Amino acid sequence: MPQLSRRAFAGALPLGLIGGSLLGAGLLGDSPARAATQVAAKAPVAVNPFAQIRIGRFTVTALTDGYADMPYDYFPGRSATEVERAASAQFTARPSGVRFLFNQYLVEDGERRILIDAGAAGSIGQTGQLPQALAALGLQPEQIDAVIVTHMHQDHMGGLVLGGKNNYPGADLYIDRRDVTHWTDPAKRNGAPDYLQTSFRMAEEVVRLYPRLQAIDGEREIMRGVSIVDLTGHTPGHIGVRVEDGGKSMIMVSDMIFPVVHPAATDVFFLFEQDRAAAKAMRDRFFPLAASEGALIAATHMPFPGLGRIVADRGEMRWQVADWALQD
Ligand SMILES: [Zn+2]
Repeated sequence: MPQLSRRAFAGALPLGLIGGSLLGAGLLGDSPARAATQVAAKAPVAVNPFAQIRIGRFTVTALTDGYADMPYDYFPGRSATEVERAASAQFTARPSGVRFLFNQYLVEDGERRILIDAGAAGSIGQTGQLPQALAALGLQPEQIDAVIVTHMHQDHMGGLVLGGKNNYPGADLYIDRRDVTHWTDPAKRNGAPDYLQTSFRMAEEVVRLYPRLQAIDGEREIMRGVSIVDLTGHTPGHIGVRVEDGGKSMIMVSDMIFPVVHPAATDVFFLFEQDRAAAKAMRDRFFPLAASEGALIAATHMPFPGLGRIVADRGEMRWQVADWALQD
């Protein structure tokens, strides 16, 4: 780019960066650029963000269905004040709580398209964007060959059904048998709190509308390089998906890790977790294992695109965001 001389570049810098204060008129004053930014901020454009990485022969695309803010008192094991303080320390505190993203992952190898989770589809917060995100990739739901649902909470299976119909008619559906059994059990439904009733209702609908549901028993390969990992705890049949090829791998761990509270502690939970002892036991096993392996993790509710690693840092576990853009 010979035209872009250093002088031309310097001339284009905001005045506030050259010889003046960063907080001076150049960057934050009422410049035309600033005015334009304010107009843009008032009218956010609906976008469908997605991010892609390569795992050997696979392309994995992170797609988001949207977001919802979870009140600070939705995290048993810590007080609302403690959770808000932790969010503040991470510069993510919002008046309405901890922001959860709803990330799904499309795994493609040129022959098959596998979608991991189907999103909340408007049943929680500002969600329902997955169909548009797929459309932005040029895909219709009928072109998905398989859907793996990591567990039967509404925010992971809601998008399976649209307008009372099977929304992925061309897909095999994989769900762990322990979750299918749990979430279709009338006795379990009757004994469950109000906030889980939507998931029970949806589970019944999904089982009815998906004759191609294959209940999974234990860890197995769905196709070469795509396998199920048992992560029981968050729900009885909570599973992860490992994508592996050419010496590279990624594991989609769904709700093993929630923003703000994890992975620094394992004795803090999300409200929807019914068996807290089991949830804690799995995190106690998984977090150190993931840290020692340096495993690349994809997590549903972490900030988009939900890709990162658990690292042990001077005795504390923390989330390290992974590079994803423009990687080989
Ligand atoms: Zn979830």
